[in-house]
Amino acid sequence: MERNITTLAIVLQSRRWGELHRKVSLLTPELGIIDVLVYGARKGRQAGKVERFLTGKFFLYYNPVRKEYSLVDVEPLSVHETLVDDLRRIWAASFCCEMAVRTIGGDSMQMFLLLNESLDLLAQGAVVDRLLIQYVWKLLHIAGNAADLDSCPVCDRAYAPDEVLGFSVSLLAPCCRSCAGQGDEMALPPGARRYLSVTASMELAQAVELELSDAAQLRIKGYMLRYASLFAGGGLKTLAAGVL
Ligand SMILES: [Zn+2]
Repeated sequence: MERNITTLAIVLQSRRWGELHRKVSLLTPELGIIDVLVYGARKGRQAGKVERFLTGKFFLYYNPVRKEYSLVDVEPLSVHETLVDDLRRIWAASFCCEMAVRTIGGDSMQMFLLLNESLDLLAQGAVVDRLLIQYVWKLLHIAGNAADLDSCPVCDRAYAPDEVLGFSVSLLAPCCRSCAGQGDEMALPPGARRYLSVTASMELAQAVELELSDAAQLRIKGYMLRYASLFAGGGLKTLAAGVL
């Protein structure tokens, strides 16, 4: 393996490592998520550069014996600095990063592009609730888990236009109400289903622009955050605080 690596990456997490160093988790298009040591980060000149949510060009060194990446240098491309002024946007950005960590599968390039664009949109003032809805919806597509909104995945029956859907926890997908599990409160009304259908083929920015009534927006956001939580296997720290 190459010892010197240049890669685009987004900083998902940054934590102290020993007295003087930091360890950061990076999402990269080709290597997936990797941990990188930033030596002397608390005192050195690299300290201010590797903040959470930063997208940049990273110059790394890989030690094949210790199987460890360390940071040589970084060229920031977008620090998403406007996020730091708005607590709710920080929570939203943190949620997007946590979902990336928890659900990353095959296509890290797609995940990188989705997260980078989502952080850009959050930093540019996009409506937070709609961004959250569309982030989860696109992420489910990338993960190959996007719901079939035309027919029930359990019994194959085509849905009626005005049908309210239930949810199958075992399939992690909406299904007809007769196939849904007992006591499950995840209902998808027809309007919300139409909205998800229409936006499925749209680019992220375009989908986030599409307006919804306040009530619909709130309901669909609640649904998608719940969906995200189930898909991630529960225990999302960024949802536990209830800020989103
Ligand atoms: Zn069914």
